[in-house]
Amino acid sequence: MSDGFSVTPPSELVETLTKPSGTVLCLGHVHPDGDVLGTLFGLGLALGAAGARVTFAGPHPVPESLSFLPGTDRWQVWKVAPETFDVIVMTDCPNSDRSEGLIQGARGPQSRVLNIDHHPDNRRYGTINWIDPSAAATGEMVFDLVRALGLRLTPAVALNLFAAIHTDTGSFRYSNTTPRTFRIAAELAAAGADPSLVSDRLYQQRAPDSLVQLGEVLRRVQISDDGQVAWLTVPRGLVSREFLESEDLVGYPRSVRGVKVAVLLTEEEPGKVKASLRGKGEVPVNAIAHRFGGGGHANAAGCTIPGTLEEAEAAVLQAVRESLGAPRP
Ligand code: 5GP
Ligand code: MN
Repeated sequence: MSDGFSVTPPSELVETLTKPSGTVLCLGHVHPDGDVLGTLFGLGLALGAAGARVTFAGPHPVPESLSFLPGTDRWQVWKVAPETFDVIVMTDCPNSDRSEGLIQGARGPQSRVLNIDHHPDNRRYGTINWIDPSAAATGEMVFDLVRALGLRLTPAVALNLFAAIHTDTGSFRYSNTTPRTFRIAAELAAAGADPSLVSDRLYQQRAPDSLVQLGEVLRRVQISDDGQVAWLTVPRGLVSREFLESEDLVGYPRSVRGVKVAVLLTEEEPGKVKASLRGKGEVPVNAIAHRFGGGGHANAAGCTIPGTLEEAEAAVLQAVRESLGAPRP
């Protein structure tokens, strides 16, 4: 059992994935993003090319904006897992509840669950846990794993890992981006990942009506009197689901000068609000998310809050104010 933080893949992990004889499930978490999909497809396609029997699945579909990732055509959306698997790989997933119960159905008594993640609050639910919070993206870790396993870095594998790193670093702009990130990205580009293709698919494929929707949303941005908090609430029905999935909306309030914490509150269904929190290095926003049962990184975290949009807005803003040093009322 390997449980500590480590920048290199633990030997049991490498042993388990070296010529796995049984079935392998690459299992995603709710609302999969670029890091989870890029790492599951990157690792799974590399294992598959070496002869492993790999299945890709999760509780939600691949969003349209990420459907260019090689492997998308093999992604299965499950309500329940149809069988158990010998090896289950979960990447970028700090908490196995985020598989919406699929892990329980897929995990038999003999299954080995491989938990590969860079979230500091990972709950170590795996048989083998490889957690490296110093990695900008789980994509960096899976790059090292593919290397350690001696698997071929095909253009499809490279493109997936490049997209994983690209999305989690905000296109190499956030503070998690290190010299190592660029070294790995350079190797992935040399192996066939086309940076301009990734940028095009992620940022230059907006739907024709999306700028109107963006306008609707951006006029709702509010900024606190002291300028330290910027936030945005999106009621149900204001914009389409596809639009919400394809845009990094919280990046807009985050981009305002002087803002220390940015918040996006989206009404997912009546009585259920999704919060996305972003920081800029001064306030660890995962501490705020933890108060509502969520989690994430110091500068990017999230949670789901029961109640109306107005109630969630009041509760989150109060928690943000407290984290910035204001007393409880
Ligand atoms: P986003 O705001 O883009 O949904 O998520 C930002 C970060 O917060 C990601 O690293 C994601 O894993 C984490 N995160 C978002 N929502 C939740 C949540 O409900 N629970 C936990 N544990 N983490 C979350
Ligand atoms: Mn990630």
